Amino acid sequence: MADIENVIVIGSGPAGYTAALYTSRANLTPLVIEGFAWGGLLQQTTDVENYPGYPEGVMGPEMMQDFRNQAERFGTRFVTDQATKVELASEPGGIHRVWVGDDEHRARAVILAMGAEHKKLGVPGEEELAGRGVSYCATCDAAFFRDRETVIVGGGDSAMEEAIFLSKFASKVTIVHRREEFRASKIMFERARGIDNIELKTPYVVQSFESADGGALGIARLEQVETGAVEDLPAAGAFIAIGHEPQSEIVAGQVALDPEGYIVTEGKSTRTDRPGVFAAGDVVDHTYRQAVTAAGSGCQAALDAEWYLRDTPEVPTPEGMPEGDLATAQWAAPAKP
Ligand code: NAP
Repeated sequence: MADIENVIVIGSGPAGYTAALYTSRANLTPLVIEGFAWGGLLQQTTDVENYPGYPEGVMGPEMMQDFRNQAERFGTRFVTDQATKVELASEPGGIHRVWVGDDEHRARAVILAMGAEHKKLGVPGEEELAGRGVSYCATCDAAFFRDRETVIVGGGDSAMEEAIFLSKFASKVTIVHRREEFRASKIMFERARGIDNIELKTPYVVQSFESADGGALGIARLEQVETGAVEDLPAAGAFIAIGHEPQSEIVAGQVALDPEGYIVTEGKSTRTDRPGVFAAGDVVDHTYRQAVTAAGSGCQAALDAEWYLRDTPEVPTPEGMPEGDLATAQWAAPAKP
């Protein structure tokens, strides 16, 4: 079994890599379990124009490569695979265990930075036609729909942003929203509404996505919410922008989650309700969800972890200790010198 790490970071968006950068500069040689598609949602983004320090903008994947390189420069190590199971210790100084398949990793502190994923509508055809017309990222896929009719589902800022971007490629963009009122900020809403080839369709929900002859998306079947009338809207592309879901399943039942599944942290800190376990980025953040705010909270998590390791006596890990005891670590910690 591998040595006990100081810190394991799970996740690799701006939060995870910033946590790795700070903990590696503190000589804690963190291990990042970064997933297959490392880099998080920014890997699916094109131009990032609002990250300070890049006056000309930067492509999302390039920015994440920079983040990763910077963390690596100070001794961060990476496992490019998914964490599959976690057992978090409940006592201060206890050892946390994280599995990647059959490989077990142990650490005194864990930083949870698993991010968020696009929410699904859960209607027939959505899964089957994903990648064949149904998409969750206009910035990634808009160019495939040049001069085609498209649909955006959602009424928040993401939907407006996606619609504005898509309108530069598609012949028509119909924003389908389930209410008359839009959650989007006024400025984004007005900007989208002012574009000639963007239309608003409310209050409608998507009933299903139907394929055309060639097997790709052809129709978004809509239902008028008040009358129940069903209407087919021709669409070669449908972009779902109805919010995000925190990727917290792996720690469900071990750290406190709010009703929407976001990890709960204590006050202004990144501390969860487990000693030695910290959380940062979109898996915590309902509200801001920006690369720069995620990076900031990754920095906070690293500092919280560093202070925890400094102030918490190590629990001894005697040879021959039975499997499972590490998870609860209920033996006496040595007295502080
Ligand atoms: P959001 O604000 O939560 O909006 C989600 C939208 O999807 C809402 O209009 C919601 O409808 C709708 N929706 C949710 N579930 C649905 C379902 N099952 N079926 C149909 N519609 C559904 O999410 P977001 O737009 O991703 O924005 C999240 C945060 O990021 C916000 O704070 C936003 O301001 C920020 N953001 C900012 C920018 C920017 O400033 N450039 C860009 C993107 C995002 P209801 O309104 O009826 O609930």
